[in-house]
Amino acid sequence: MKNIVVLGAGLTGLTVARELSRAQGYSVVILEKESYVGGLAATLTKDGISFDLGSHRIHPDTDVGVLRYLRSDLGIELLKRPRRGALYLQGKFLRYPVIILDFIRAISIRKSLIYGLSYLANLIRLQKWPVDSYKQAMCAFVGQRIYTDLYEDFAWKLWGMDPAGISAEGMRRRSLAFNWKAIRKSVLGMDRYFFYPRHGIGEIAKRFEQEIVQSQGRILKGCRVTQVNFDKDSQVSSVVYEDPQGKSNQIEASQVISTIPVDALQECLFGPQDASESLKWRGLRVLYVHLKQVPSLGNDTFYFPERKVRLGRVSLIQKFSPDLNPSLEGVLLTIEFPCSLGDPTWLKRDDELLQIALEDLLVTGIYKDTPEVIRSFSICLEKAYPLYDLNWKERFDCLYSRINAVRGIYSVGRRGMFLHCNIDHSISQGLELASQLLGVDPSRIWGDRARQFREYSARD
Ligand SMILES: Cc1cc2nc3c(=O)[nH]c(=O)nc-3n(C[C@H](O)[C@H](O)[C@H](O)COP(=O)(O)OP(=O)(O)OC[C@H]3O[C@@H](n4cnc5c(N)ncnc54)[C@H](O)[C@@H]3O)c2cc1C
Repeated sequence: MKNIVVLGAGLTGLTVARELSRAQGYSVVILEKESYVGGLAATLTKDGISFDLGSHRIHPDTDVGVLRYLRSDLGIELLKRPRRGALYLQGKFLRYPVIILDFIRAISIRKSLIYGLSYLANLIRLQKWPVDSYKQAMCAFVGQRIYTDLYEDFAWKLWGMDPAGISAEGMRRRSLAFNWKAIRKSVLGMDRYFFYPRHGIGEIAKRFEQEIVQSQGRILKGCRVTQVNFDKDSQVSSVVYEDPQGKSNQIEASQVISTIPVDALQECLFGPQDASESLKWRGLRVLYVHLKQVPSLGNDTFYFPERKVRLGRVSLIQKFSPDLNPSLEGVLLTIEFPCSLGDPTWLKRDDELLQIALEDLLVTGIYKDTPEVIRSFSICLEKAYPLYDLNWKERFDCLYSRINAVRGIYSVGRRGMFLHCNIDHSISQGLELASQLLGVDPSRIWGDRARQFREYSARD
């Protein structure tokens, strides 16, 4: 019997655990520090209200194999919903994803011509830009003018630092829909829908949990991994975790699948690291505001790329499914504030965040009059996004190769690979790793697949 210990019950860990627990000869245990499954894609309940940890949707260009897996293997009903986003730009709301004609109408023909000419001039410019940073890469692609007016603020807001200090990888991984495929879709108004599980994004994880338990796998919640041990031949041997009572326990492991942040795994293996070797992350405060009145605009999501608006994305997730909070009076807004551990936004009290939210909801015209607040609360998500600063790659490669030198350990998933990726990508990684461990196709080498997974670009 092989003892498989999975660190983290997010979608990647749950996928691997489901596949292995159904196979002969595997004993599977998942250790999860939180009291719930689903990781970043969980749906929780408070005072009878269901809420997702941030706004999640399954995008139309999701890998078809993963869509089939969700529907047929896990039996999840995915609702097909129209996309009703709105982007607030220069004092006006445009449909999001953006349609070029709307954009021209909103910002004026004169300004559009300036942007168009600036873009063309940039295309025929002979001198090539260096493209080390996000700023340089964006300027090389869209030109200085468009970058300054439309991209710079968003980059500051999202990452909390000067875009000149962010790696060009940041553009490739999240270029805010400025690539040819996205432009074509934008001109033609394509793919204006998404999929969503009837009972919230967390339904996927809950379904996984049922299947794992049915196949005799174990999920130990509230159990934080503190140490991973290996023997003198560098073969992984056991995992130490703290249970909900604070007691330290040890569990034997022939293989460890880790989906916890890659730098946390490094500490579990080798002890505390030098701060200069550490990776940088961006966190998120999510404020939930239950209001008596519904917004005057009929959209389900509002995007605010400009810094003068302090709100991040605002979502009305109950519009994603009629069965999510069906009898809720009024509306629940899910408001995301990108921030970093310990910064002023991270440290704000809930009432201070609420005040900011109410002010900006009025300023932007989402509400004409101050709405009545029924309740509000917030959550903090540390390490929600990898932050690709200029020399992240050397630091990542160094720590990833140190981890890989320990046999029997695999660091995968969004935070395990330091990837800005989507749900389908996490599930694909889990499926691929499980089939690798089960020896389904010996010609596929995990190291090669892991490198391919690292080429991924996120969708918004
Ligand atoms: C705000 C936000 C919005 C998003 N929106 C979308 C979207 O619309 N569409 C989409 O497709 N994708 C979206 N994503 C991405 C999606 O959520 C992730 O790709 C996916 O959930 C990652 O799953 P994972 O299992 O790889 O990682 P995680 O969900 O990070 O799972 C890792 C697990 O490890 C646990 N853990 C950490 N440390 C320890 C420890 N020491 N001991 C034990 N357990 C530990 C964590 O609690 C967590 O459960 C979004 C992400 C965010 C942050």
